[in-house]
Order: sequence, then structure tokens, then C-alpha cells
Amino acid sequence: MRLGIDLGGTKIELIALDENGTTLLRRRVPTPTGDYVGILNVIAGLVRLAEGELGRGGTVGVGSPGTISTRTGLLKNSNTTVMNGKPLLRDLAEKLGRPVRLENDANCFALSEAVDGAAAGAHAVFGVIVGTGVGGGVVIDKQVLTGRNRIAGEWGHNPLPWATESELPGAPCYCGKLGCVETFLSGAGLARDYHSRSGKQLPAHEIALAADAGDKGAQASLNVYQDRLARSLAVVINVVDPDVIVLGGGLSNMMQLYMGLSALVEVYAFSDEIDTRIMRAVHGDSSGVRGAAWLWSS
Ligand SMILES: [Zn+2]
Repeated sequence: MRLGIDLGGTKIELIALDENGTTLLRRRVPTPTGDYVGILNVIAGLVRLAEGELGRGGTVGVGSPGTISTRTGLLKNSNTTVMNGKPLLRDLAEKLGRPVRLENDANCFALSEAVDGAAAGAHAVFGVIVGTGVGGGVVIDKQVLTGRNRIAGEWGHNPLPWATESELPGAPCYCGKLGCVETFLSGAGLARDYHSRSGKQLPAHEIALAADAGDKGAQASLNVYQDRLARSLAVVINVVDPDVIVLGGGLSNMMQLYMGLSALVEVYAFSDEIDTRIMRAVHGDSSGVRGAAWLWSS
């Protein structure tokens, strides 16, 4: 049995999967705010509860924002800031009496879709999250490519490729740079573009609805968004050339995105023929917790 934990800023979720990926049990509890030891206790409690209820032990994988520093072994870059600077992996392993694997949530997403989601059976998979932020992960033969510096797949903080004069220098990104892909492809990025055309404030999902209802500004924003997405993915294809790209996160639910996307990617990528499949995620919001469980797929 595989147990996956999705450690979020507001909730901690556990899933238990059998060998075939069938869900045996799922539990969700609020994250103890600002309380590191409390978080450890909640995770240990969820694992004990699942194993007691199901009558068997399991492996434990954790999906969390941030990464474990290769230099110090401490968690960093988590938006659950109380976790930063803590030896999360060591403490969890100690508490649970077994080794624990941990990857950031975008890598877990990519793994979940690569194992039994939209990219099941594919050799090389790039998983993309476009939502509040823009993340990504590379999975090769059902193994997360973590990377030397644990930033493999972080395409959201590359500069927007083939930026036009009007797109430069770009909005400031929280990472300290200007004009990152994330500043264009996040929900806030789409909303900013729409505001600049229409003077109206709408959240991303309502811009998609407005476009469907005939709002010309919303349609223009979506067209530009799709072009920026295509440019950003073309660069990933030029480097990784994955078999499948899976899109997840809130903005991946805008069905308008997919129509004509492959043809646009072909315009930008370094090949006159691109047959990379670009798919919408199958597991939706469950991909993070499922991918955490699959960290022990081999
Ligand atoms: Zn950035």
C-alpha cells in the first residue's frame, strides 16, 4: 500500500492507494497554522489512522511546496513559512519509523499524471501547473527528475520567450526578476492582461466565461495567453522534448486553450513537425496527493 500526503498551507490530505492506484481511503484535516510540531503530529496521526483502519502498513510520500536544500537538508522556499529551515524529512522519518520521500507539489502532479493519468505509459512527461502560480515537473519513466539543484521543471521563472516590445520588461515577479513566464501565465497575469484591454477586473475563470459570451477583450486576452503559453512550451520542447505535456491547475480548465495550441507550439519550436501530445490533467485536484503516494512507485 502507498500513502500519499499533500501538505498544503490550509489543509493536509492523505490518500491510500493499492497496487493498482485504486483509492482505499482519503482524509483531509486543516493545517495547524504556524505550528511545525503540530504539522508533524497531524501527518503521523493520519498515517496511523489509515494503517489502523486498513489493517496494513504502507510507504509514505509527501508532496509539499518548497524543496529540501541539498546543502543543509532543511526545507526551503515553502509558502507555509513555518516549515522553512526545518529538517522535515528527518523528523517525519523518525516519527513514522520508516524512510519518507518528499517532492514539491508540481513534481507530484507530473508524476501522478505520468503514472496513471493523462500521460500514462509515456516515457518523458512534462507536467505544467498554471494557476495562482506557474510550476512544472519532469518525469522520465515514472521517475521524477529532481535535478542537481532541485529546480528541474521550474519553467515559470524563465523569461517569457520571444517577448515583444510591449511585453518588455514585464511585471515584477516574487522571485525578484521581471517578466517571468509566471507573471504572464498565472491567473493574475491573465487578469492583468484583460484589465489592460478592457479596464475591467475579472478573475481568470470569469475571463474564459466572458470570452464564451462574446466579450471581444476577453477573447483577445485568451488568444494572447494561448500564444504566450505556446512560446513558453516550445522552449521546454526544445530542451526536454517530452512525449506528453500535461496541463493542470485552475487555468488548465479553460477549454479554449487547447484548440489550436499544438499548431502554435509548432510555430515556435525548433522543428517543422511537432507531435507532442498536450493534454489536460486527468486527476485534477487529486494529482498532488496521488503523486506523493507514487513517489514510492519503484
Ligand atoms: Zn519569477
